[in-house]
Amino acid sequence: MRESLWGWGRTSPSVADVVTPDSETTVLDALQSAVTVVPRGLGRSYGDAAQVAGGLVLRNDAFRDISPIGDDGVVTVGAGVSIDDIIRRGLPDGWFVPVTPGTRQVTVGGAIAADVHGKNHHVDGSFASHVRSLRLLTPTGPLHCSPHENEDVFWATMGGMGLTGFVVNATIQLIPVVSDRVIVDTVRHANIDDVMADMLANDHRYRYSVSWVDCMSKGRSMGRGIITRGDHDPSPSPEKTPPRRARLSVPFSAPNGILNSLSIRAFNEGWFRKAPRHRIGEYQTLGTFFHPLDGVQDWNRLYGSRGFVQYQFAVPDAAGDTVRAAIELLSSSGVPSFLAVLKRFGDGNPGSLSFPIPGWTLALDLPVGPSALPGVLDQLDQLVAAAGGRIYLAKDSRLDPDLFREMYPRVDDFLAVKRRVDPHNVMVSDLSRRIGLIN
Ligand SMILES: Cc1cc2nc3c(=O)[nH]c(=O)nc-3n(C[C@H](O)[C@H](O)[C@H](O)COP(=O)(O)OP(=O)(O)OC[C@H]3O[C@@H](n4cnc5c(N)ncnc54)[C@H](O)[C@@H]3O)c2cc1C
Repeated sequence: MRESLWGWGRTSPSVADVVTPDSETTVLDALQSAVTVVPRGLGRSYGDAAQVAGGLVLRNDAFRDISPIGDDGVVTVGAGVSIDDIIRRGLPDGWFVPVTPGTRQVTVGGAIAADVHGKNHHVDGSFASHVRSLRLLTPTGPLHCSPHENEDVFWATMGGMGLTGFVVNATIQLIPVVSDRVIVDTVRHANIDDVMADMLANDHRYRYSVSWVDCMSKGRSMGRGIITRGDHDPSPSPEKTPPRRARLSVPFSAPNGILNSLSIRAFNEGWFRKAPRHRIGEYQTLGTFFHPLDGVQDWNRLYGSRGFVQYQFAVPDAAGDTVRAAIELLSSSGVPSFLAVLKRFGDGNPGSLSFPIPGWTLALDLPVGPSALPGVLDQLDQLVAAAGGRIYLAKDSRLDPDLFREMYPRVDDFLAVKRRVDPHNVMVSDLSRRIGLIN
């Protein structure tokens, strides 16, 4: 069926044929007969990674098997199984996902293709660190891949944005938990220097850490922020209840411009004021702590039909000043920006396109509309590239090919593997065309 598709930011739609193959044979047929193909999960990447104009989009929804979970917490799941599905299946028996992004509504295929990270990257690494093996259908045939078998294809697929083939299933190591709660410490800081100093000094004491930073405040309170850090509650809870499903939804697109400098500044102010100055030992549900945005379905419609840009970058530890410079640029530009998310990254992995590098990562939500926005984003790109950093492809909708190559210096390693499994360049997306990620 022909459909218009876009990412979660709703900025760059394109039209393609969309099918939901329900067997490996159908996927292989499509990979061998279509001109251009890209897999798609739940469409939670923000930009144009899971769409291909004029090509064929293969939804992964039909691959939804979950094996029994072993006593060691190892499970094999279909690529269309979501993080939410895994939590619902595993939690009652004391198993939780090793890494979760800020929403549970992402598939295992999408989590592998973007090599997603959570609030525990500084301790547990990204999703790839917990994948034991996977089954991949490439245009040249099926492959079993692991860190010990076809390892170059395995690592190219981790963060490879769906461009090495269609993941059918993956075997994943879950983590044991005894409760459905997280014990959370919260602290509020008056500016970005204090936020970053506290994260450097104390993040290592927690498994999970995230900071909300106000990029609209200026002067002495520039980058004021709230750090929330936590660990799974070690006291057993009698029943381990999975997170509640969304109860609210946004039924249609809000008028453009509702989220503007005034309304976002007021939201950021309210959020900052309502946070405690310092609170320790608060019990939170898994849903509240990990996925607060999942409480409202289709919240991206609040940004109106113009949509919004999620801009996330990572810079090495030595480039902490770049985080400050980025916040200063935003706060002085007047471009409205919701509370940004600042996290620490630990070691990266061998994935040639995997995003995390040890240091800092900052994610910004920026409504499309203000005339200054494109120029500000271009300046941010330059700051990030000059600092040896990179933009997260799962959120990108506008990076140019030269900067992409500068930010991802191992791109030729990736393309060498891709050429082997996809010699005719069948696996293509709007993203890969835009940034020149083609054989
Ligand atoms: C509210 C929100 C919060 C988020 N928070 C985070 C976060 O904290 N950390 C983080 O890392 N990311 C985060 N993300 C981004 C999200 O985790 C990734 O974009 C993820 O890839 C989305 O998965 P999906 O199933 O929706 O895949 P899609 O968006 O549909 O596709 C993403 C990529 O996966 C590929 N793909 C999908 N299925 C397969 C398959 N079967 N085989 C091969 N490739 C496949 C697609 O081709 C595409 O390149 C967030 C997104 C949202 C909306």
